[in-house]
Amino acid sequence: MKKLILATSNKHKMVEFQAMLSDYEIVSLADIGFSGDIEETGTTSGENAKIKALAVRKFCDEKGIDYPVVADDSGLYVNSLGGEPGVHSARYAADHNDEANRTKLLQELDGKIDRTAYYECAICYASKDEIKLFYGRTYGEITTEKIGDESFCYDCLFYSADLKKTFGEATEEEKDSVSHRGRAVVELKEFLKNKNPNFDRTLKFNK
Ligand code: IMP
Repeated sequence: MKKLILATSNKHKMVEFQAMLSDYEIVSLADIGFSGDIEETGTTSGENAKIKALAVRKFCDEKGIDYPVVADDSGLYVNSLGGEPGVHSARYAADHNDEANRTKLLQELDGKIDRTAYYECAICYASKDEIKLFYGRTYGEITTEKIGDESFCYDCLFYSADLKKTFGEATEEEKDSVSHRGRAVVELKEFLKNKNPNFDRTLKFNK
């Protein structure tokens, strides 16, 4: 089975990517012995995904590890807030404090008529000889109160235009089918399929 290194230390993302890229073996940073901290200094999700992928790529090149590296970066972009929290989504009010970040978002939107927003995900693929970026977006509106499951940051405040409910109310499968990450992965899979024409063979045989 072909291998892809996923440049994240987030276990939830490892599981999510493994499920979406089931024809590949997803290798973790721990598996390759990478323990460095990567500073996300970019101003866009694409820049940050590239920074992460290239930091791990450099490590792999030094160690003679040939597998391609995949890194992702995502965030919530609110139109009437000039795109904030955007690349600062995880640390909008306080670092990875979901409740504080949600409270700040609701406060900033207080009195605003336009509550439209989108999530964006950028995925950077970096092999020894190729760097590619893939994007996915999903559109909706920020609700005035929390609705549904509160376990993943802004999801209980994001009313999906596709699902007609908040991501907090959606099942994992429903969310994956329209989410920014799901859509970016579709683009990545299409690219990988063209590199390896047999990639989708089970799907074709099942048709
Ligand atoms: P990451 O780059 O995918 O780790 O996402 C950075 C931050 O964006 C997260 O910590 C969340 O605050 C926010 N975010 C990204 N994707 C989602 C999502 O699907 N649901 C809720 N929050 C998200």
